[in-house]
Amino acid sequence: DTITVQELANRMSERAVDVIRLLMQQGQMMKINDVLDADTAQLVAEDMGHTVKRVSESDVEVGLEGEADNAADLKPRAPVVTVMGHVDHGKTSLLDALRQTDVVAGEAGGITQHIGAYQVRMAGGERITFLDTPGHEAFTTMRARGAKATDIVILVVAGDDGVMPQTIEAINHAKAAEVPIIVAINKMDKPDVDPNRVRTELLQHEVIVESMSGDVQDVEVSATQKMNLDKLEEAILLQSELLELKANPDRSADGIVIEAQLDKGRGPVATVLVQRGTLRVGDVLVAGTEWGKVRALVNDRGEQVKEAGPSEPVEVLGLNGTPEAGDVFSVVEDEARAREITDYRQRVLRDKRAAGAARGSLEQMFSQLKESDKKELPLLVKGDVQGSVEAIIGALDKAGTDDIIARVLHAGVGGITESDVTLAAASNAAILGFNVRANAPARDAARQQGVDIRYYSVIYDLVDDVKAAMAGVLGPEL
Ligand code: GDP
Repeated sequence: DTITVQELANRMSERAVDVIRLLMQQGQMMKINDVLDADTAQLVAEDMGHTVKRVSESDVEVGLEGEADNAADLKPRAPVVTVMGHVDHGKTSLLDALRQTDVVAGEAGGITQHIGAYQVRMAGGERITFLDTPGHEAFTTMRARGAKATDIVILVVAGDDGVMPQTIEAINHAKAAEVPIIVAINKMDKPDVDPNRVRTELLQHEVIVESMSGDVQDVEVSATQKMNLDKLEEAILLQSELLELKANPDRSADGIVIEAQLDKGRGPVATVLVQRGTLRVGDVLVAGTEWGKVRALVNDRGEQVKEAGPSEPVEVLGLNGTPEAGDVFSVVEDEARAREITDYRQRVLRDKRAAGAARGSLEQMFSQLKESDKKELPLLVKGDVQGSVEAIIGALDKAGTDDIIARVLHAGVGGITESDVTLAAASNAAILGFNVRANAPARDAARQQGVDIRYYSVIYDLVDDVKAAMAGVLGPEL
């Protein structure tokens, strides 16, 4: 009486391929019908953020409390929003301006604390949570760690500049994460703006706004003149209604670490975003490889609070160490349990480092693909000139069959950067460089995150490699 990989995945409502991947990261090669002993099953389940009950010496029950939540216990929660876009298009200005629309802080004249996220309260009582780090780096880093922190992406495009390379990157990041976009056409106070040009340019990247008969909302704003911020917030609330965002506030808390640092006076301080349940002072919390008993909670206005519910960002004091941004946290029953889990995780981390992560190598990616039902080969393509990048995308399109396709998550001109590697890691993709190289930070990141980078100077060779890989996924019948 042990449990198979598939069975464990079913009990957790996770995909078997994700369980296999986790086991692989821990150096255990297993297939879908292989059996796990109860200890391993328990640790895997906990690693994937589930709580586990040992029903007998040899069997585990995954107490997936999220699933056990009755529909009646689910309450609407605030949307969590990330702002992305090209440099200088006004992301920071917009985040600052939106922050000042909070009606309650306005009355109290509160002091704003930059803790990595903040919540805005509307006159009607609705709330919106904004992640305070603009750009897609933080967004993708979190996703690479398996955390989904964002419900909605605000894509800022300056009306006088239009769609630029980082706008396209942001679109691709949002799409890869399947997060809906709202377009904010910014700097509308300037005389030389052309919002319709922005809409047309977005069309070319498959972001189709409502006035062009698509379903992406767009709002013309000015961050510096605080123009139409209310309209933007309405658009966010409308989108969040469509998403039917809900969580059960009456359970032990879990969520994501937004940022963390060692503070001279206060010790390790982590800003967390609660995703389910309510986090309280006195709770014992595990975050990544660290744990602690919550000594104090501080909100984005610098006030000490006793608790934080779903979608609320809050600083946590009392941890024994500094977790990493993107780590998942959960409240556990006692300190002994917390110690047990973090000991295990630290051991796994050490082993992983020793073994050298090899998650994204082409071969391993294909073996994972075999387990999943969607036959897609995720790739990033970087080339020296637009013409060759387009030729490669065209050739990869044609290389697809009825059974498998190459999905190009992002393609662009220029060297391979750290940001490319982060996106690849988050999506388990390989990077194909055509007449371009990876810079040093990108190479380091690829090594650390186990992302496979391949270089080519002949398009035929590149396509041939991809075809061979696809054939490998599908087996000998091809
Ligand atoms: P980020 O790099 O995307 O975070 O952009 P910033 O918020 O730092 O803004 C870049 C520059 O554009 C700054 O000089 C801002 O003052 C300016 N800016 C941002 N929003 C607006 C706007 O709505 N109107 C005008 N005229 N300037 C803006």
